[in-house]
Amino acid sequence: KLVSREYKEENSVVQVGPVKIGGQGLVVVAGPCAVESKDQLVTAARAVCKSGATVLRGGAYKPRTSPYSFQGLEEEGLRLLAEAAEETGLATVTEVIDEESLSMAVNYVDMIQIGARNMQNFRLLQLAGKVNKPVLLKRGLSATVEEWLMAAEYIIASGNENVILCERGIRTFENSTRNTLDLSAVALAKTLTHLPVIVDPSHATGKRELVGPMSRAALASGADGLIVEVHPDPQMALCDGPQSLDPVAFDSLMAGLRPLASAVGRV
Ligand code: PEP
Ligand code: MN
Repeated sequence: KLVSREYKEENSVVQVGPVKIGGQGLVVVAGPCAVESKDQLVTAARAVCKSGATVLRGGAYKPRTSPYSFQGLEEEGLRLLAEAAEETGLATVTEVIDEESLSMAVNYVDMIQIGARNMQNFRLLQLAGKVNKPVLLKRGLSATVEEWLMAAEYIIASGNENVILCERGIRTFENSTRNTLDLSAVALAKTLTHLPVIVDPSHATGKRELVGPMSRAALASGADGLIVEVHPDPQMALCDGPQSLDPVAFDSLMAGLRPLASAVGRV
């Protein structure tokens, strides 16, 4: 298989705008769950940039559990991401949910995200294999490591080898956290595949006070990077406020990661 270590022994390095993911360094992707307004996004972008993140996240098409929840600003959200990137120099990533949002997003962002809920949307995976942008592939809510890797295989087999895997927690019997962060899957995936693997401690836990400890644990488990939700005012967030860090908390998270990153040889 194209994803396997047998097929390719050395680690793949995926270029996201000016940022390389999967090499030596630890890459931190950060930003709000959803793009809500120009002011919200620019404030978040400036803050995460100042603290050392290099990729800005922000959802413009939100796959919400309830049809009555905020669904995203769509193309206006993509425009705001491009503006924030222009101002800060950050690379950008946004989730796509179908063919239409995919063909729209490629005009505005540096990387396409396929969310947990679409990990086995095989048609969408094939379409993502035809675009000229790297793909961040989240692990499905109840996907095995094998299913996750086969989803990546779909994208690569369709022509796009620039895939980054993201562990974001899986559904288990435990309901005191939003999901169960499966760090053994991170260490295991690093042995099975040459693709970069990053961790999303925000969706994995659903609780902002657990984002720091799980970020450090992810780094120790061999993750190539993190994707963290940061909102200028989490209390007011339209989506995922309880798991979002404010800029001050994000800054201290980043400061705490630096010595740990050099201890594990990621500088
Ligand atoms: C997200 O990153 O905003 C998101 C919806 O994540 P997931 O697909 O992992 O639930
Ligand atoms: Mn979210």
